[in-house]
Amino acid sequence: MGKILKKIIISAFLIILIFAGAKLFKSRFNIIDKAAYTSGTTADWRLILVNSSHAVPKGYSPDLMQLSNGIYIDSRIYPDLQNMFDDARADGIYPVVGEGYRTHEQQEDIMQDKINTFIDEGYSKREAEKLAGEWVAEAGKSEHELGLALDINADTSMCTDSDVYEWLAENACKYGFILRYPSGSESITGIDYEPWHYRYVGIDNATEIYNNNITLEEYLS
Ligand SMILES: [Zn+2]
Repeated sequence: MGKILKKIIISAFLIILIFAGAKLFKSRFNIIDKAAYTSGTTADWRLILVNSSHAVPKGYSPDLMQLSNGIYIDSRIYPDLQNMFDDARADGIYPVVGEGYRTHEQQEDIMQDKINTFIDEGYSKREAEKLAGEWVAEAGKSEHELGLALDINADTSMCTDSDVYEWLAENACKYGFILRYPSGSESITGIDYEPWHYRYVGIDNATEIYNNNITLEEYLS
């Protein structure tokens, strides 16, 4: 009996050891994975680069929160976003977040919808896929999958989209957001000018990017 009990205790101990080891390995692996996708030496979550040649880190899952209009964002950017919107309203500008976090599946659906639109217009499947790729980011390569990118437009009952874009272009950096796809930088970002698409990078980084009039790609290179 004593022998059997000893065996059971040793087995239980081994099982616990294996589980603990696997957990440790997994958490380490995640850290390495995230770091690999940030340029330079920093593993700062605010500077994760996502574009056509840098996919969203595998297994990336932000801690999300829901805005009052149902849009999800990374909860860490909320305080600065709230400050920005409060100050905009004080200036008579009424921004709204139209798009925030998207799942991989939602991004796939957006791409498929775009492909279908081109097919309906008479393009072949191959042509439609190519054209759609010029408009929509491939699933896994959209910043929206990070929860750190927002499409910001106007509450058009209060002001125009242009009013909002103009205010953001001048002020967003003070709250940690950058105009991610500026006009004239298409060859660097790979995306056409989008006056509504803002990316959170933190106030220090955003201020430097704004002052130097550069893109996130250039900032990280
Ligand atoms: Zn966007």
